[in-house]
Amino acid sequence: MAKPAQNIKDVNYTEAFVGTTNFNLRKPQYVIIHHTSQNSLKQTVRTFTMERTQVSAHYVISRDGKVQHMLNDYLRAWQAGKGKWNNIEDMNSCSIGIELDNNGIEPFTDKQIDALISVLQALKERFGIPQSNFIGHGDYAPVRKNDPNVHFPWAKLAARGFGYWYGDTTGVQVPKEFNEYLALRIIGYDVSDVSKAIIAFRRHFCGVESTAKVLSPEERKVLYKLYTKYL
Ligand SMILES: [Zn+2]
Repeated sequence: MAKPAQNIKDVNYTEAFVGTTNFNLRKPQYVIIHHTSQNSLKQTVRTFTMERTQVSAHYVISRDGKVQHMLNDYLRAWQAGKGKWNNIEDMNSCSIGIELDNNGIEPFTDKQIDALISVLQALKERFGIPQSNFIGHGDYAPVRKNDPNVHFPWAKLAARGFGYWYGDTTGVQVPKEFNEYLALRIIGYDVSDVSKAIIAFRRHFCGVESTAKVLSPEERKVLYKLYTKYL
């Protein structure tokens, strides 16, 4: 057994371990959605089974709606990596990773999205995952990742209870003192590099891929409306 670090006081454990039967397995509480940036399900499955890639996912969904389950939901896939959402920095430990086969720039097929919704429905029911906890890899790791791409139909998913949506911005008046930085943080974004958080927010909620560092007045309305749903 490894020796405890010297500056940590020894723990006064009792002599015998006492077991309990009052337990079950831990439940994933987030779903992270990805695109594969690959050209076929076959290629993706190969990537996720090669040891040197050090990446995997629980599910891969092909363009024609086939669902490849690759890892038991209770186990920890290597999919989300380094990032931050709310105060979670080890997303792999508490999430399910779903990869959509997609070359990174193309729209997603209806069959693929329908299959995804069926998988999400089953996961939500089985693990009691809250509506707010269905997010994209680019939301969790805005500095490194941009998936799923800008074509991903987040509004359609939100209408089915997976992730929040802002609704309608008609007539919305954004208060002058509204703080975009705090709103992004309350929604869950890591704002240590706020321009990257803005890019990720805009991709997800405005359907626009742009590196502009400032939100447009309409985007500001979307953010304001969305933020009120997280309060
Ligand atoms: Zn990803």
